[in-house]
Amino acid sequence: MQDLGEGMLSALASMPNPAGAEFTSGLEHDLADTFSSEHAVAVSSGTTALHAALSAVGVGPGDEVLVPALTVVMTAAPVVLLGAKPVFVDSDPSTLDLDFADAATKVTARTKAIVPVHLWGRMGAPADLLAFAAEHGIVVVEDAAQAAGTSRAGAMAGTVGAAGCFSLKDGKVLWSGEGGFVLTDDGALAAHTRAFRGHWLTPPLGSRPQERIALNGRLAEPLAALAHANLFRFPALLDYRRAQTAYLVRALDSARGLTPLLPATDETWNAYAPLFHIGLANPRGFAEHLAQQEVPNSTGTFRLVPCDTRPMFAGVDRKPCHGAAEILDHTLALVLTERDDEAVLDQYAAVIAREAAAWRT
Ligand SMILES: *Cc1c(COP(=O)(O)O)cnc(C)c1O
Repeated sequence: MQDLGEGMLSALASMPNPAGAEFTSGLEHDLADTFSSEHAVAVSSGTTALHAALSAVGVGPGDEVLVPALTVVMTAAPVVLLGAKPVFVDSDPSTLDLDFADAATKVTARTKAIVPVHLWGRMGAPADLLAFAAEHGIVVVEDAAQAAGTSRAGAMAGTVGAAGCFSLKDGKVLWSGEGGFVLTDDGALAAHTRAFRGHWLTPPLGSRPQERIALNGRLAEPLAALAHANLFRFPALLDYRRAQTAYLVRALDSARGLTPLLPATDETWNAYAPLFHIGLANPRGFAEHLAQQEVPNSTGTFRLVPCDTRPMFAGVDRKPCHGAAEILDHTLALVLTERDDEAVLDQYAAVIAREAAAWRT
């Protein structure tokens, strides 16, 4: 952990430096390299990454954006903040991927973009996504916040669409406490994203400084240094998360009513969260019960429900997304960090197996 602090200390030593961006630039250079992307733009959070990228692809007032109901509010909030309307799309319980038949019924003349979310690090088939977007003439902006390190059919999550958005919040595989970044191969999108994160002070070609309202979405230099130090550890962080997930899946091999949700055959999963289908009565109640027993998980601890059912979207006209609800109600997604060693995992496994065996309600 000492290595992690070194970069932060040099960032601190250079402060205060109002114009400083040296650590951010260094991080961006190596992010682009790691993800084989032309450009990486570091920002203050994953939410800001989505906000900036959606602005860059031209989402604005009057537009509609297709967003899976199977996601957290942070995917849809930037759409609303840009004056556009999120239109919620269902997911297919057999694949966890978007339900493209449902998505097709929700496309209108105002649909500008689709934001696939690689929830729990799981990624849908890139070919299906790109075919859908091409057929309807809409832009793809990926929410890859949980999917750093996942790839499918040879394509890395976050590099399939026009832009890919990542979070560096701790808990994600690659982390710096707070932070995020946007990947894109498109120079104009990168320039817009940079301008957007800095009050449009350094505008893209063809625009004047402060011609538009933007925001401060910069990543603090010490956090850029921390993210950079973790980027060097990224292969090790990924290996560790995969080992943790494999360990728990093995330990729960014969747990009553729990079946692991395995990645697709052409998917290289980052193993973000050990995933199980809960085949017990009142499955959501079981996940909540585990959270009370100090086994953190998506639905039990964080109350993950279909995004369209959140109070802030009460005014958005919607059709119920039954697939997303079914997935969330029946999935145990365990929350891991790199602090969770074998003793912690053994404890989780023991509690889960014991409570599953006893669960009747
Ligand atoms: C974490 C996360 C975000 C938001 O990232 P922040 O850095 O917390 O703003 C967005 N989408 C998904 C799927 C996430 O997991």
